[in-house]
Amino acid sequence: MSDEVPEAQSREDETFMRRCLEMAREASARGETGVGALLVRDSNVIAQAGEATREQTDPSAHAEVQAIRIACRHEQSTDLSGCTLYATVEPCVLCGYVIRRAGIPRVVYGVAAGQAGAVTSQYAILSDSNLDGWPPIPEITHGVLADECQDVLKRREAVVLSWSGGKDSSLALAELRADPRVRVVALLTSITRGYDRVSIHGVRRELAEAQAIAAGLPLIEVALDPQSSNEAYEAAFRNALARIRADYPSVRKIAFGDLFLADVREYREKLVSASDFGALFPLWGRDTRQLAEEFIAAGFSATVVCVDTTQLSADFAGRAFDAKFLEALPAGVDPCGERGEFHTFVSSGPMFANPIAVRRGELVLRDDRFMFCDLLADG
Ligand SMILES: [Zn+2]
Repeated sequence: MSDEVPEAQSREDETFMRRCLEMAREASARGETGVGALLVRDSNVIAQAGEATREQTDPSAHAEVQAIRIACRHEQSTDLSGCTLYATVEPCVLCGYVIRRAGIPRVVYGVAAGQAGAVTSQYAILSDSNLDGWPPIPEITHGVLADECQDVLKRREAVVLSWSGGKDSSLALAELRADPRVRVVALLTSITRGYDRVSIHGVRRELAEAQAIAAGLPLIEVALDPQSSNEAYEAAFRNALARIRADYPSVRKIAFGDLFLADVREYREKLVSASDFGALFPLWGRDTRQLAEEFIAAGFSATVVCVDTTQLSADFAGRAFDAKFLEALPAGVDPCGERGEFHTFVSSGPMFANPIAVRRGELVLRDDRFMFCDLLADG
């Protein structure tokens, strides 16, 4: 297998794989296995197809075979030695045979197939050089847009999660990661310019970045001006969604960790749908006390970084979010702080590869209302 693909070639591979993915999505939408294939000659697509075994009641109507048939008709020949084949999934042994007999010199695929893969299984017909009189074995490139190819194959949805760094975001991430129908591809967070802190929560930007690294995900930042109007917030958010569209074209939904405030949910749904995205609320309707207890039991640790002193006493700021904290909360205060009573910063938990070492800094009251506890990266 070739692991060294020159930069320009790998860009071209990605471009063609994107088109292959469209074929795979169309096939999946028709109820077929989500596989797509393309044949390219001199950087031009000469054939494209999706899986069609159901539609044609034909177990050999694999995407690659379909595309090869079209290409042979196009070329008026069974010799495709000037072509590259792209497939979202490793060709199977059946397709491998056809690829070899057509003399295709290069095969590019996304993800490995199961037991009958023509490269990675015991029936590795694409890499068997002992077949006398056959055309040479093709050069193989694998892993191109692998996650996206797998998403289509497994009918999995790629989503971006709105991230504040607190317990609700963390619980939402844990919930989404446990769901085989979903793959979280990035986190989206609002940063207030000048302060360089996560909006509302007041957590330093570098700590949010450390969380994203620990979660193994890229962090997309929405930059806001201090005291920015609602219009400015929405404009910045739309901007971020446009960036997501460009950088993660398979993402169609943004997930939020909201629990029960219907007006907030409706607001978010409207906001994302205006940019043609859907919204996902993995924690919606869950019992908040139970969720808070689960959070602690699951081994997350979090610190209260902001308290709205009109709803909760200022001395709760800076405390650990633990069983003692929950016990001490006055009646009427939501155990998850869903009404904005308090906000947290999660420094460790099951979905972080490593804990984020922090130490408490000073307590600062802002707007005569919000008590913030500054957290500093420790070490
Ligand atoms: Zn096949």
